[in-house]
Amino acid sequence: MFCSRDAPRDITSRWVSNLVDTHEEEVLARNPGCACLYCGKPAIKLQTTLAITLHGDPPTIQVLCQPLCTKNRDDACAIQAQETIDQGIGNYPGRGTEVYRGS
Ligand SMILES: [Zn+2]
Repeated sequence: MFCSRDAPRDITSRWVSNLVDTHEEEVLARNPGCACLYCGKPAIKLQTTLAITLHGDPPTIQVLCQPLCTKNRDDACAIQAQETIDQGIGNYPGRGTEVYRGS
C-alpha cells in the first residue's frame, strides 16, 4: 500500500523516514572507518536525502547519504551538507520540479 502511486503522502513520508532512519545505523555499522565528508573525522551520522522512489517490483527507494561527524544540525559540517543538497536541488534542470519537504 505504501508503495502505490496514490498512497497518501502524509503517511508514506513518515514511513519512508522511519525506513531510512532504520537503515542509517545498519549502513554505518557496515562501513567502519567511514569519515565525515567535510572534515574527515569519524562519521557518526548519515545525512540522508530521499532521491527517488520507484514503484516497480520490488518497490525501490534510493537515498543520498552524506557521512557526517555530528548529529547536531547547527554544526558546520551539517550546515555544509544541507547546503550541498540545497544547491543540488536548486540546480536540477527543468521547470516545475517539485521539492517536497516532510516535517
Ligand atoms: Zn565533519
